[in-house]
Amino acid sequence: MEVQADVSSWTAAGHRPPCLRVILVGDHPASASYVRGKRKAAAEVGIDSETLRRPDTITQDELLALIGELNADDAVDGILVQLPLPEHIDADAVIEAVDPAKDVDGFHPENTGRLFIGAPRFIPATPFGIMELLRRSDVVIEGAEAVVVGRSNIVGKPIASLLGQRDANATVTLCHSRTRDLALHTRRADILIAAVGRPNLITAEMVKTGVTVIDVGINRVDDASRERGYRLVGDVDFEQVAPKAARITPVPGGVGPMTIAMLLRNTLTAAQTSPVAT
Ligand code: NAD
Repeated sequence: MEVQADVSSWTAAGHRPPCLRVILVGDHPASASYVRGKRKAAAEVGIDSETLRRPDTITQDELLALIGELNADDAVDGILVQLPLPEHIDADAVIEAVDPAKDVDGFHPENTGRLFIGAPRFIPATPFGIMELLRRSDVVIEGAEAVVVGRSNIVGKPIASLLGQRDANATVTLCHSRTRDLALHTRRADILIAAVGRPNLITAEMVKTGVTVIDVGINRVDDASRERGYRLVGDVDFEQVAPKAARITPVPGGVGPMTIAMLLRNTLTAAQTSPVAT
């Protein structure tokens, strides 16, 4: 992996390994699994990562205090608070508490603002990964009709912004739950990004031949034939859409691994740009 080579060069130059601290509140099974994946990948590329687990009874003040400690710790480069958080905690307050220079998730409003004006510091890992996938697959983005389905702060809005920036130059349509006629828009797409969380929302009739499809959705559907009783699928009906598509990302695979790689890239960047880098 490229990040691994870059981490090696960084440490070979005499710096300590980049340091990531992940806060995991409660025992949401999907969150625990994502955090395990991030930790394993970090270890593989030589990033020092540790998961700080806290019970879901933690108060907001206790969580903010923990973030304050990590903000003040010069040995910590990146801080990630795994979402979702329990309902009694204001996620926005937590996101805003993270030092923007250590915000490797890129969710702090300062970093969001920087992304939207075209001067990003940390691009959120999933949209960052999608842009890398498109660029590395030689997809023509310039002038393309890009349709994004889903307007979350972590995927839909930032990827719509990135695709419309001057270094990408797509014409972007952002669809959401109140879009009147979703298929009308998706059928025009040269690049279709689905980030909704609904299995099989995008069917073959909704895409044109030759489309590039990026399926961000991760949905658990019951499957008695699997030992764990479910399997993961995206938002796109892969079997039906794949024959029409020029390119399509699978779920699992595709966007998920790219997301983790970009988180590690952001952590290395945080170490390299830290005002107290050692
Ligand atoms: P979200 O769950 O916060 O919001 C869903 C969005 O979908 C909303 O903006 C809503 O307007 C839109 N929507 C809902 N129903 C719709 C419909 N019928 N038609 C059009 N739009 C509709 O979004 P999220 O956090 O971006 O997550 C979306 C999916 O992506 C989830 O399955 C999530 O698990 C997955 N995800 C994957 C990764 C990854 O690394 N692969 C990262 C983040 C999220």
